[in-house]
Amino acid sequence: MTGFSLGALLADIETLVCCESPSSDLDAVAHSADVLTGVGTALLGVAPERIVLDGRTHLRWRFGDGPPRVLLLGHHDTVWPLGSLATHPFSVRDGVLRGPGCFDMKAGVVMALHVAASLPDRTGVSILVTGDEEIGSPSSRGLIEDEARGCAAAFVLEASGDGGALKTRRKGVSRYRIEVTGRAAHAGLEPEKGINAGIDIAHQVLALAALADPGRGTSVVPAVLSAGTTVNTVPAAGVVEVDVRVWDEEEQLRVDRAVRALRPVLADARVTVGGGINRPPLEASSSAGLFGLARELAAELGLPELIEAAVGGASDGNFTAGLGVPTLDGLGAVGDGAHADHEHVLVEELPRRTALLAALVENVLTKGNREGIVP
Ligand SMILES: [Zn+2]
Repeated sequence: MTGFSLGALLADIETLVCCESPSSDLDAVAHSADVLTGVGTALLGVAPERIVLDGRTHLRWRFGDGPPRVLLLGHHDTVWPLGSLATHPFSVRDGVLRGPGCFDMKAGVVMALHVAASLPDRTGVSILVTGDEEIGSPSSRGLIEDEARGCAAAFVLEASGDGGALKTRRKGVSRYRIEVTGRAAHAGLEPEKGINAGIDIAHQVLALAALADPGRGTSVVPAVLSAGTTVNTVPAAGVVEVDVRVWDEEEQLRVDRAVRALRPVLADARVTVGGGINRPPLEASSSAGLFGLARELAAELGLPELIEAAVGGASDGNFTAGLGVPTLDGLGAVGDGAHADHEHVLVEELPRRTALLAALVENVLTKGNREGIVP
């Protein structure tokens, strides 16, 4: 097995975890990018490009003059607010590493850097570490897609699933905001002159909920609701915000068409639909080839048999898969508790999972050189 130094991995993870980086704090994320630049430059011998979009700081290392063939994708922002280190300090005890964002996904970022540093030839590798994944990648989406387009593989360093599972399917996400416009009137004096947007939005909520298809794993959840101003006024406006999750693109389009076809139930009310498809699904067809390769390589490395998981949460891997780029996700740390108090990384898994990632990258790079094909 390729010998990755556990001590070196742990030291770099500690450096990143000890720099807090909540996505919404632009200065904190910029500072985290400075720290990450230091760690990466020391390992790779070259500084990254610093790409600031809408105030959010992303880093990219690209090797070779041609277009990238292998993308290592991660993020250095976390969901943990400033001050979290005081309540959740960095620690390594009894084989368990803790600290805000260690599992999701600073350990994964460090693994990617160590893998790139270990390669005899990095030509064709791109490492992109974004700073706004946890809020849906509003500024980095285009950057991610431009970097992934044409790659033979996108390896996503998000935390693994239960039992170290790689994430071979992720649901796609759509978000909508449906507004009904009615007409206000005094609820006591002349209610008949009003158009009750609250009643209409109630109909819309039921129509939306009926779009779910549990058999196909399609959820449509009307999640945030409001209507009305005072108890003696017919509501002039009603709003519902909806979260939609789907396993396949066909379902995402079916729900999208149906949401856009919503019509008011009350005469003279008006329905406006905002939002739309946010992340396409990461379908099994995008990950199957790379997962098969990962299983073979794991066996060669003497690792336990790799398992796969399908999850409802989306990641930036959804964007790369949405372009048709072969994508394998969950290649980061093994552990548990993303976004939760018990967030942790299993230390003994770090060197072997890093070795697995290295084997994947080398395999895809050399295969590309030899055959010019996509795995
Ligand atoms: Zn993450």
